[in-house]
Amino acid sequence: MRHFDLVIIGTGSGNSILDERFAGWDVAIVERGTFGGTCLNVGCIPTKMFVHTADVAGAPAASARLGVDAELHGVRWTDVRDRIFGRIDPIAEAGRRYRAEDNPNVTVYSGQARFVGPKTLDTGTGETITADRFVLAAGGRPIIPEIPGIADLDVYTNENVMRLERLPRRMVILGSGFVAAEFAHVFSSFGVDVTLVARYDRLLRGEDEAISVRFTDLARDRWDVRLNRKAVRAERTDGGLARLHLEGPLGEDVAEGDVLLVAIGRRPNSDLLDLDATGVVTHADGRVVVDDAQRTSVDGIYALGDISSRFQLKHVANHEARVVQHNLLHPDAPVGSDHRFVPHAVFTAPQIASVGITEQEARARGVKYVTASQDYAGIAYGWAMEDTTGFAKLLADPDTGRLLGAHIIGPQAPTLIQPLIQAMSFGLDARSMARGQYWIHPAMPELVENALLKLPLD
Ligand SMILES: Cc1cc2nc3c(=O)[nH]c(=O)nc-3n(C[C@H](O)[C@H](O)[C@H](O)COP(=O)(O)OP(=O)(O)OC[C@H]3O[C@@H](n4cnc5c(N)ncnc54)[C@H](O)[C@@H]3O)c2cc1C
Repeated sequence: MRHFDLVIIGTGSGNSILDERFAGWDVAIVERGTFGGTCLNVGCIPTKMFVHTADVAGAPAASARLGVDAELHGVRWTDVRDRIFGRIDPIAEAGRRYRAEDNPNVTVYSGQARFVGPKTLDTGTGETITADRFVLAAGGRPIIPEIPGIADLDVYTNENVMRLERLPRRMVILGSGFVAAEFAHVFSSFGVDVTLVARYDRLLRGEDEAISVRFTDLARDRWDVRLNRKAVRAERTDGGLARLHLEGPLGEDVAEGDVLLVAIGRRPNSDLLDLDATGVVTHADGRVVVDDAQRTSVDGIYALGDISSRFQLKHVANHEARVVQHNLLHPDAPVGSDHRFVPHAVFTAPQIASVGITEQEARARGVKYVTASQDYAGIAYGWAMEDTTGFAKLLADPDTGRLLGAHIIGPQAPTLIQPLIQAMSFGLDARSMARGQYWIHPAMPELVENALLKLPLD
């Protein structure tokens, strides 16, 4: 049985651990799918390439209010799809080739790994290996709900919907989180009639309530949004449509589409790894238990990213990979992950970005706070864009003036929020941030400046 210094399972953020400092290590990488993981192949990157294209496709419809009569003549779906994956697929393949052919100290196994004993791994290729150290970086996968009849349908997820052969006329999206919101924007901008089926009374429920309520209102203007619905049965109609039977407080109804896209959440891939065999402990939801140095319950076994994280974000997985990298190289001087101010964005329309606590969290936790909001409609660039729905909302500690949370819905929200993330990360108080620097006039960051100035701080 071959023995390695280090085995990495999963080539998303796990693949970024190896650099020249590991040149003297005998390393194995095991990957069951496409090299590069979720973000590169079926997550952040292709979705945002589609979102940008959707924004462009949606621009003519939005331009009339500015006095510009533009027209969308069509979306060449296969050209869009092939442009995007024509860029991504070679990057994934080049990443695999680089590790397999250009790194003499690295052995790549293309198989589904599972533990068969303490620090002993079946690579899924017919070869079982052992190692002193392991990194569990196997990510997660979409949850498919157990709805009677769903097995009779071709169910789409983020893993295959971006490679559809043709654009459907109608699409049903089951889910109300960020993946559902992003795909609803993409496909509806391309001319697909979207029905969104949500379990609860609001979309994007994890966001600050004001943002979630605003987004839900706007979504209802744009898509057929069914709130408070439970999908109880699925079937294929005689005409070949996917049909979901729904139950809600007002009774029963159905949602039909040429394509059913399921986006109800993701589960960690820990179950695929038979972790019991090596003694690694998981939470009840399947996430691997780690300490702040990303160490699991077994000495020498680390975990990072979606398999262990409560965040499920690429920038968090990358940060944790850097922590694991350091701790592998310096086990006697380990560092910890910093999860204090983790931002996220939803690339739908309008865009959304957030960092820190929401107002409902502040209330629930009894945190003392003051809050202020600034509409895009109240800043000069907002007038230029004729934006009537976007706003920034801030929460701050009344004693220190430091920001507790920032939430933005509107154009370029993920870009606008970055200075607020910086202020929180480096402990800059709201007053100093607002008055200690110039803000370019009349640029969009004046939204942030004005929101800061509105905070009722002494
Ligand atoms: C549609 C979508 C859009 C997203 N957009 C964003 C975004 O805009 N911004 C953002 O920050 N995050 C986004 N995310 C989340 C982000 O993609 C993930 O947080 C990130 O990719 C997690 O990285 P990871 O390295 O933990 O896992 P992954 O990248 O999932 O890598 C895990 C790898 O392990 C492999 N694997 C699994 N089990 C085994 C096994 N038993 N043996 C061998 N190999 C195995 C998998 O095939 C996979 O390649 C998005 C996710 C989705 C689904």
